[in-house]
Amino acid sequence: MKQFSYLTADSFEAASKALTDSGNAVVKAAGTDLLDLLKERIVEPDEVVNLLRVEQASGTGVVSALATLADVAADTAIAEDYPALHKSAAVAATPAVRNFATVGGNLCQHTRCWYFRNESFPCFKRGSAICPPLEKGGQNRYNAVFSHERCASAHPSNLAPALIALGAKVRCVHPEGGRTLSVEELYREPRNGRIGDTVLRKGELIRSVHLEPSALTRNSTYLEFRERHSFDFALVSVAAAVRLEGSKVAEARIVLGAVAPIPYRAKQAEQALTGKALNAETAQAAAEAALAGAQPLSQNAYKVPIAKTLIRRALMELSS
Ligand SMILES: Cc1cc2nc3c(=O)[nH]c(=O)nc-3n(C[C@H](O)[C@H](O)[C@H](O)COP(=O)(O)OP(=O)(O)OC[C@H]3O[C@@H](n4cnc5c(N)ncnc54)[C@H](O)[C@@H]3O)c2cc1C
Repeated sequence: MKQFSYLTADSFEAASKALTDSGNAVVKAAGTDLLDLLKERIVEPDEVVNLLRVEQASGTGVVSALATLADVAADTAIAEDYPALHKSAAVAATPAVRNFATVGGNLCQHTRCWYFRNESFPCFKRGSAICPPLEKGGQNRYNAVFSHERCASAHPSNLAPALIALGAKVRCVHPEGGRTLSVEELYREPRNGRIGDTVLRKGELIRSVHLEPSALTRNSTYLEFRERHSFDFALVSVAAAVRLEGSKVAEARIVLGAVAPIPYRAKQAEQALTGKALNAETAQAAAEAALAGAQPLSQNAYKVPIAKTLIRRALMELSS
């Protein structure tokens, strides 16, 4: 690991300023993702800015970026008003990781793509001309089935699809001024030489996540499929939220994780459901619509039927 200096910030503002002023500093929350990247020399900063001592945001509908996944999973108000968020946090990683890993870090974590995480291989995100999973003979069983024209990484976060389905926002801190973004706006398609998946500017930090309870958020869920039952990253995840008026769907939000470089909002499925009764037939039609545009790679076509099944199961769970 390359040597770096270490600064423990006492506020988000101080951390953001230090990051903005520095040549190539990085921010650390719990470090469960960052430490691996430092050890593998994927990230080689001169300075690491530790966030863990700063004051946490709080209030109704506010989740601190420094809340741990265990905090989120244990919060009964979150379980009641935002079941998708509760479930996505409760099944992420291991109990030990959940006790440290933070919400902000979960949203900003990096892809698990083997090629990205091994400096010996080329990687589009790390500046190479090619993305090996897209090349003949490339290993791509865990990679994307959507939006993989130049980079086939799969987005690893459990919380991101859930928060997008819930219409959550993030409040960000930067010396040039704070801003609020929807979690959906937080992400952008991969760009050559940029390893992160967010629109955050140099030094910009997520301070908190903001949610508004509604009939839609209360009728939400999160399901995932993984290889190991004990713990694993999802092969496919689905977050869904449905507002019913009588027996008809008035509004639906369906977001898939681990199938594209950033969380994938299945708008065709949402449209297919809106105005219809929610039953086995319409849930199946929505699942078919969601995956109609999928373009599996040589080894990951299995993700398509799994995604359809998860969508159908999630919608049936929300139908009663
Ligand atoms: C064994 C294992 C299993 C896992 N399984 C899962 C899983 O099933 N599902 C899942 O979703 N995740 C999983 N993870 C990933 C884990 O949830 C994330 O590593 C964790 O949430 C990151 O939080 P952190 O506080 O450790 O972030 P860090 O490692 O400190 O930071 C991660 C990234 O986010 C940036 N960052 C951190 N906080 C902020 C902020 N407030 N504003 C802006 N940028 C910030 C950092 O600079 C860094 O780039 C797993 C991790 C491990 C080690």
